[in-house]
Amino acid sequence: MKLFEQQELLIYNSLSKEKEKFSPINEGAVGMYVCGPTVYSNVHLGNCRTFLSFDLVFRYLKHLGYKVRYVRNITDAGHLENDADEGEDRIAKKARIESIEPMEVVQRYTVDFHTVMNAFNALPPSIEPTATGHIIEQIEIVKKILSEGYAYEKNGSVYFDVLKFNEDHAYGKLSGRQLEDMVANTRELAAQSDKKNPQDFALWKKAEPQHIMRWPSPWSDGFPGWHLECTAMSTKYLGSNFDIHGGGMDLKFPHHECEIAQAEASNHQSPVNVWMHANMLTLNGKKMAKSTGNNILPNELFSGDNDILSKPFSPVVAKFFMYQAHYRSILDFSNSALEASEKGFFRLMDAYRSLSGIEVSETTNFNIGEWRQSCYDAMNDDFNSPVLIAQLFEATKFINLLKEGKATITKGDLGTLQSTMHDFLFEVMGLVDVSVSDNQDGNKLSEAVEILIELRNQARANKDFATSDQIRDQLLEAGIQLKDGKDGTTYSLN
Ligand code: AMP
Ligand code: ZN
Repeated sequence: MKLFEQQELLIYNSLSKEKEKFSPINEGAVGMYVCGPTVYSNVHLGNCRTFLSFDLVFRYLKHLGYKVRYVRNITDAGHLENDADEGEDRIAKKARIESIEPMEVVQRYTVDFHTVMNAFNALPPSIEPTATGHIIEQIEIVKKILSEGYAYEKNGSVYFDVLKFNEDHAYGKLSGRQLEDMVANTRELAAQSDKKNPQDFALWKKAEPQHIMRWPSPWSDGFPGWHLECTAMSTKYLGSNFDIHGGGMDLKFPHHECEIAQAEASNHQSPVNVWMHANMLTLNGKKMAKSTGNNILPNELFSGDNDILSKPFSPVVAKFFMYQAHYRSILDFSNSALEASEKGFFRLMDAYRSLSGIEVSETTNFNIGEWRQSCYDAMNDDFNSPVLIAQLFEATKFINLLKEGKATITKGDLGTLQSTMHDFLFEVMGLVDVSVSDNQDGNKLSEAVEILIELRNQARANKDFATSDQIRDQLLEAGIQLKDGKDGTTYSLN
């Protein structure tokens, strides 16, 4: 019997705004699509949070015994600078600024994305299709929507006719926006726009002469609208009705709303059974974003090279920190929160490791079976990782009692405790057992640098600048950079 036959999984569906019992379209198999990155710059920790939220979903579904086809695309064309179908293509713009080919931009940041996901020990998706690899499929969908009467062509571009679509369907049901309000609140169309209404969105855009990312189509040499690629790739690999579609909260509107409209207009059915949206990682209370510069890059975190960090943090600690919040809650990033997570993470790892040295007994004074089910209950309740982690800390308390000889455990229960902790720590959350020596090496380095910082402070207080400079310069030569800030001196690894 598979685990999914024993466990009842509830998932919050952004469409119904309720937690629903999950039951896949095809028994034992799950199709899941998640919007991937637009590869025009390095992913920041906010992007990582969304992808790690879905890594948890992917891993738990697999753990339950489902055969999962997880499709996560790479947006390598069509994503313009703003949501109103205006401005330059983000990738083409970066290529122009750096005087390189757009595909060089795509390659550089796709590699960066994969490297970062690997560092976080995220599983690769089953299929990772690209927008540029599916131009033909996208053109076919445009033709279909035109033939259904929900799109119009103007000067070589094709736009989705939102008002027409809304006569027969409900546009706005995912985001809860009413078309009437949108019409009332939208500014006048720019004079040069080919759109009939500001709510309409581009399915195909005619390329300006200088636009190099262009493909032939029945309407013009041009490029597809951003929303279209996800409809094309999700339906190609998962069918016209599939189980789960995910992305960050900020994609609900317009991106996912438009995806629903395109799919309903071309396939006459609702494309997705469960819409899942991951909440934002914030910094100083504001959304981490590429455009505002309010973000931290993974490499800054791993090296400690950012003014808000007191030291480097390992990827697994950052991942643990993220999973200490539920994926639908906003999470604020801070150095102190990371430090607290680091302590908790190592406490869990120490407890897990010490299980191999525990002596068994005739009785157990902890209900292991109930505890194990409570771990499943946490994950079955819309992937509630903070509650799962709280349960793992409950086990840690018991393990510490065992170590002190204040509790006992039978051989069978010890086996269950060990395998359950292993499953949830490593298989479901995908954490990595940073070994004792790694941990100790990291801590020892940290302590040694602190001693040198203190000696340097003393030298400066004595106006012995030759010594204080020597400490700073020699540490730098060894790849350790000191940073003087208003709260004292911190360091990063170069
Ligand atoms: P993009 O490359 O901009 O298309 O974004 C890739 C993914 O990251 C999308 O699912 C976004 O919703 C998500 N995302 C962007 N900013 C944040 C943030 N601050 N916190 C969490 N997810 C984010
Ligand atoms: Zn998408």
